[in-house]
Amino acid sequence: MKILKHNPQVSAGQRKYSIPYNGDLDLVRWAVKTGHVYEVYFAGGAGHDLSTVASRDSVYSSNEIEKLVAFCSAQGIGRNLLINKSVLYFENVKRLLAYIRSLERAGGVTAVTVADQRIVPYLSRAFPEVEIQASVFMHIDSALKAREAWRNGIKSLCLDVSLNRNIPELERIRELKRYYKELRVKLLVNHGCYCNCVHSGRHEDWLVFRDLMKRQGRKGRHALGALFDSEPCAFRRTSWVDEIKRPFIRPEDVCFYENNGLADHFKIAYRNDSSEELRVKLSAYFLRSFDGDIFRLAPSNYRDDAEFICSNKDIPKNFVTMTGRCGYACETCHYCDEVATRAFKPNLSGHQRRRKDNIA
Ligand code: SF4
Repeated sequence: MKILKHNPQVSAGQRKYSIPYNGDLDLVRWAVKTGHVYEVYFAGGAGHDLSTVASRDSVYSSNEIEKLVAFCSAQGIGRNLLINKSVLYFENVKRLLAYIRSLERAGGVTAVTVADQRIVPYLSRAFPEVEIQASVFMHIDSALKAREAWRNGIKSLCLDVSLNRNIPELERIRELKRYYKELRVKLLVNHGCYCNCVHSGRHEDWLVFRDLMKRQGRKGRHALGALFDSEPCAFRRTSWVDEIKRPFIRPEDVCFYENNGLADHFKIAYRNDSSEELRVKLSAYFLRSFDGDIFRLAPSNYRDDAEFICSNKDIPKNFVTMTGRCGYACETCHYCDEVATRAFKPNLSGHQRRRKDNIA
């Protein structure tokens, strides 16, 4: 597995990445130096973290976040503040606006990511020069929703991950750009969710429940009359092949979306990764090549019981077009079973994949 060491040439036409800040400014420095990054996204500093539904304080000090903003500003890299808590109704909006303004000392933010549409008018009035981006948690999964988001003042859309495997709908969104010239599309390449998961609208609640249970030292089965298990995600996985149907984008397939004008930018998760793990992910996507277990780049939300690894290099070349246009008619199509036969290998190391607190 290759770790990027030197400054590679970014080819003409290659789209750049939005990368997470995991608390390691040296990692950001390295990533920016490669030339593949256009933006860093991050949660607010202590007392100002509105990036998850759980009301917990940021693990970063305000000073640390200012240093990050100042570095990116000096390098001409975008600064994207996450305020994508699903409901901001109960927050102090004046305090939020003051915090955004306070970052101007360090160079300011260039974008904010939101999940709650109702905050948009306040933000656009206060910061007309700051781009408002839709969080993946806004679940924009159709061209119609994309158009509505645009009309509401959102210029940049991180689309629902299910669209990674829905090329016809991405083409419809591409068509919208003929009319809404400044519309920008971002695809999250390595999220852990399952495609069209009916629980995705409650995704963040699941994290809150799990944290709550942990804090109370209880197992999730105590909740909801012993019916609710907070440990795995709520998706009903029927076989390991479902892991292939998760809407990750392979590093090798990034160019398919680029070449067909389906994405302006790509986003890489996760901001709670260790630097070692995040560097592997960033290297793979920057190089657009990965010789290893694709589930390492895009870990499952389900459980830590990885019985198989999925050898990325054994996934066939037509994977992106087959899975992107199949319409998930799995009852009659068994393409993913064939991919699993080729690419799944027993996880001989017995390595248990660490669960991610899935906060993109
Ligand atoms: S329809 Fe075929 S290609 Fe699409 S997810 Fe199902 S098995 Fe895979």
